Amino acid sequence: MSTETRCAVPGCPRTPGGRRTLCSTHRTRQWRHGDPHQKATPPDALAIDMAVANRSPLPGMRPAERRAAGVRLTELGLPANEIARIFQVDPRTVHRWRSQSRTRVAA
Ligand SMILES: [Zn+2]
Repeated sequence: MSTETRCAVPGCPRTPGGRRTLCSTHRTRQWRHGDPHQKATPPDALAIDMAVANRSPLPGMRPAERRAAGVRLTELGLPANEIARIFQVDPRTVHRWRSQSRTRVAA
């Protein structure tokens, strides 16, 4: 039996290193989606629509959904500072969302 620590995700052959329980890939997924098994999930379009219409994030919105809503509000002409206030993020975060939306194909 190996004493080498494997990633906590079943079937993942990678070793996290140090005292970590997840490899870097799964750690990133955990951080991004709150779930190490989750790759890019399709965002909840309704939640995004509601957030855009109400100018307010819904409770439990995932980061990708907040980002999508932020980008949509940008397209509606809201200033970054206003979007940052709505989602309670730093204006720099809004600028990052915008630049990501230009380089990535939106879901
Ligand atoms: Zn892993």
